[in-house]
Amino acid sequence: CIFCKLANKDIPTNIIYEDEKFTVILDASPATKGHALILPKNHFDDIYSMDDATAAHVFQVAVKVAKAMKETLGCEGLNIVQNNGEIAGQTVFHFHMHIIPRYKGDTVNIGWTPGKADADEINELKEKIAAGL
Ligand code: ZN
Repeated sequence: CIFCKLANKDIPTNIIYEDEKFTVILDASPATKGHALILPKNHFDDIYSMDDATAAHVFQVAVKVAKAMKETLGCEGLNIVQNNGEIAGQTVFHFHMHIIPRYKGDTVNIGWTPGKADADEINELKEKIAAGL
């Protein structure tokens, strides 16, 4: 897996942070200046296969990187994007989290059209999802 190799330095890459569980690299095809990827050193296909401790750790790393980007890049905001499944835009099946710094006038397009749902439908979905937790 290409991300296993990058996270574990079997392929040289641009590492901005590393700890015992994660490597953070700069995306080779960045959406904006500083676009980074948080990669677990262990292989997880996606969010569904990730254990709780690793999941908690990934967001701690995201907070560190976000603060550093705000400080060093002067970005006005940032998006955290994490895709699971081909339909959601996942292209490499090794869990990764995108940290995309945002600048005035950039061309990043992350969005959706807000839909409509009636109270019955929302209630039904609430019951359904809650039953799985
Ligand atoms: Zn992998």
